[in-house]
Amino acid sequence: MAIIQCPHCEKDIELEAGSSGLFDCPYCEEQFSWGNTPHSSTTRWFDLWLGLLIPSSTIFPGIPMLLFIFEPQGLEGLIYLIVGIISNILTTLILGLIGLRMQRYQLALGALFSPIASALTFYLYAETI
Ligand SMILES: [Zn+2]
Repeated sequence: MAIIQCPHCEKDIELEAGSSGLFDCPYCEEQFSWGNTPHSSTTRWFDLWLGLLIPSSTIFPGIPMLLFIFEPQGLEGLIYLIVGIISNILTTLILGLIGLRMQRYQLALGALFSPIASALTFYLYAETI
């Protein structure tokens, strides 16, 4: 047996030694997690950057790569630009949904703020052409 304190009501709770996961406090009935948390803080930071940077990578280097590979002429270039922006929005949405589904909220948070990063990337890229 291990005795821990409820993070909500601070009463002592007995747990099986070495147990981990989600528990309900018998006193205040609040839920709390104990033991090995599934995601370390490194993973959380990694997820945040992942959610933030992957969508903007569809703009840069995504769009320049598309233009380089297919060498579109005139109006075609605009189409590739739109494709780049659409895949950017899709990547943002997919990452956000994955984050929510897997309860990796930092990933969803990163995706939430990624339009800002994407807009910045797009602005910087547009400056170079
Ligand atoms: Zn409690």
